[in-house]
Amino acid sequence: MPSVISHAIAATAIGKVVQPQSVPWWYWALGATVSAVPDLDVIGFHFGIHYGDLMGHRGFTHSIFFAALLAGLVTIAFAGHDQISSRRLFSYLFLATASHGVLDAMTNGGLGVAFFSPFSNTRYFFPFHPIQVSPIGAGRFFSAKGLAVLQSEALWLWLPSAAIFAVMALVRGGGNRIQNSNTAIHD
Ligand SMILES: [Zn+2]
Repeated sequence: MPSVISHAIAATAIGKVVQPQSVPWWYWALGATVSAVPDLDVIGFHFGIHYGDLMGHRGFTHSIFFAALLAGLVTIAFAGHDQISSRRLFSYLFLATASHGVLDAMTNGGLGVAFFSPFSNTRYFFPFHPIQVSPIGAGRFFSAKGLAVLQSEALWLWLPSAAIFAVMALVRGGGNRIQNSNTAIHD
């Protein structure tokens, strides 16, 4: 996995693309949270579940089906808010959760991602995997290996995410200005 921070950064970039004009603060918190949820499957290691099992690491919780399920449940819990439609919130949460598996499939270690679980437990990697796999467990993260992981995540995740966020902020800002000037003309 890339680190929790990197999953949250990617989710934030997705959130910027999907967001309507203004969103409540919890919009960002929800995206960052759901992007980390798939890795809760590492708890299974303590209960004798093997990496390659259905419920193993990068298994069911990393699937497209799970992303839809989690996004659906969280959307139901937060539905009915004025500032964001349920459909848009679902789209964001689905993409934020699914991005986790996509990024994992771009790492250079571990087993692949069971995108089609529970229907198929086949594990997939993308042909392009530049992201250094992150050690499981925070203890091992603070090491030379951890630094190399952060460097590769900064290059392949943080920079593209920041670029997407900046471009969307510019586009939205420009859109607002055009809308405002139109309003001014019509007024
Ligand atoms: Zn993962």
